[in-house]
This record gives sequence, C-alpha cells and structure tokens, in this order.
Amino acid sequence: MKRKSRSIGRQLWVAAIFFISTPTLAWNAAGHRLSAAIAWHQMSDSTRTALGAMLAHHPDHALWLKRSRSEDSAYAAFLEASTWPDDIKRDKRFHDTDEAVTPVLPGFSEMARHRHWHHVDYPLGTHSGKQHGKGVLDRQLVSLLQRIKDPATNSAQRAIDLAWLIHLVGDAHQPLHVVSRYDETGRGDGGGNALWIENPFHPRRSSMTLHAYWDDLPGPPWLRDERLEAAASALMKLGERIQSTGSVALWLTESRSLAKTAAYDGLEGEVPTLSAGYHEQATLTARKQVAIAGRRLGLLLEQLLSR
Ligand SMILES: [Zn+2]
Repeated sequence: MKRKSRSIGRQLWVAAIFFISTPTLAWNAAGHRLSAAIAWHQMSDSTRTALGAMLAHHPDHALWLKRSRSEDSAYAAFLEASTWPDDIKRDKRFHDTDEAVTPVLPGFSEMARHRHWHHVDYPLGTHSGKQHGKGVLDRQLVSLLQRIKDPATNSAQRAIDLAWLIHLVGDAHQPLHVVSRYDETGRGDGGGNALWIENPFHPRRSSMTLHAYWDDLPGPPWLRDERLEAAASALMKLGERIQSTGSVALWLTESRSLAKTAAYDGLEGEVPTLSAGYHEQATLTARKQVAIAGRRLGLLLEQLLSR
C-alpha cells in the first residue's frame, strides 16, 4: 500500500511539473474574457444580435452554453468563443501538427489546434529584421477577416473563424506574442517562454517564465461573471482614446515596441529578478493592452457586421 501511494504521489508530482513547465502561448483566460467583455459593451444591439446568430452555428455552441451561467446566450457564446482556441489545446478531439490526425467531427472542416496561429516571432534586438520562427499570427488575422467576409464561407466555418478572430485580436495585443529574442546562434526564446525570471510579487510561486508572467498580468484565469464585469468596467477607460480599429500591422508594431520597452528592457542576468518599477509598468501596460484590444475588437466587429 505504502509503495503504491508513494508511486501515485510521484505520478502526481510528475504531472504537476509537466503542468507548470508546459509553455503557455496566450493571455490567460482572464485577458481574453476581459477584452471580449469590453468589446461587447461598446457594440450596438444589432451587432450583438448578429454575432449571437453567427456564433450559434459553432459546433461547440451547445457546450459553451452548458458551461456558462449567463442568461444572455449571445454574450455567453461571445465570451466562450474568446478562449476557445486556447481551450482546444487541452481537448483530445483536436490534434497538434506532430500528432496523429483526429477524426473530423460534425461542423468542423479539420481538427488541428493551430498553435502557431497564436504568435508571430519578430526578432528582438539587432537581428536582421527577417522573421524567424513558425508563428503566423500576422497572416492569420488577415485571412480570417477575409474568410469571415466571404459570402461563400459556410455558417459553421464562419463561426469557427469568428472565435479565432476574437481570440487572436487579444493575442496580437500581448507584447510577448509578437517577438522572440534571438541569441548569437539564432536560437529564439519563444517570446519569453524560455526565459526564466524571479517574480517576488507572486504570493506563492516566484519562479516562472517571462511569458507566463505576462500572460497572467490581466487577472486570475477564473475571472467570470460579476467579477469579470467589474474588472472590465474598471479597465474600459484605458482604451477610450482609441477611435478606429487601425490595421493588423499597426497592432503588431505597437506590441513589438512594447515588448522591447516594457517586457525585455531592464531585465538583467541569466535569471532576472523583477523590480517593483518593472512590475508596476508591466501591469499597467498589460491592462492597457487588454482594454485597447477590447476597444478595437468592438469597433472591428461593428464595422464587419454593419456591411
Ligand atoms: Zn492565444
């Protein structure tokens, strides 16, 4: 018995290490839900109704409504859509590029997780300026917009594309989703996924990657319902100066520059320890970016659906 429980304990420990060390590639759920909530609250009723009708064709729509406590099914689907591209990373119905292809289920045209859609790897520092890495966030945002507008796109595919668009507008505003810092050998740090830091401001766990630190800045991943609404309305004013959607290229250029000034500048040593000044500026930058992403997403969807 003793040996068995020790072995279960070891298995759990291994699972825990795996979970902690699995690289994340997105704002956490709070960041995406906050941007979605901010977008929703600035859109017209007719746009919200149109979005609700479009998202109802998503193959996972029924699952989303089961999970949500909201009485407004259009809003509930919109919030769930914002995290769906991350949710499928843990969903066995879907597969990674290096895994066996999983069966195509009703409503889907394919079951790939598309992890490389969540980021683009613009090189930081004095590198050639040529794009490295596998990320296609830049191109994917443009092609999703085209496909959503295309009348030939079927309803289920348009709903899937819409979920991706809602999510990726958020990712494009996470500074560490658009860069990678390359060393002299040409090896990239995957937007801070390979850079470990000491974060003395975390109450329990100070050792983490720079990427994970930034993903968690918008708020705790369990943020939902009343707490989500309160946090979204507190953030809303940070995005109010934004009056037009701007281009995908502009979003990425801004994030790229913030990656340098707010995320990488000021980090010293092999495992840098974050200073109070760094933490304060990073938190404000992340909150602003979530608010701006929400504002732009709202304007973009309003434009897209009023045509
Ligand atoms: Zn993502």
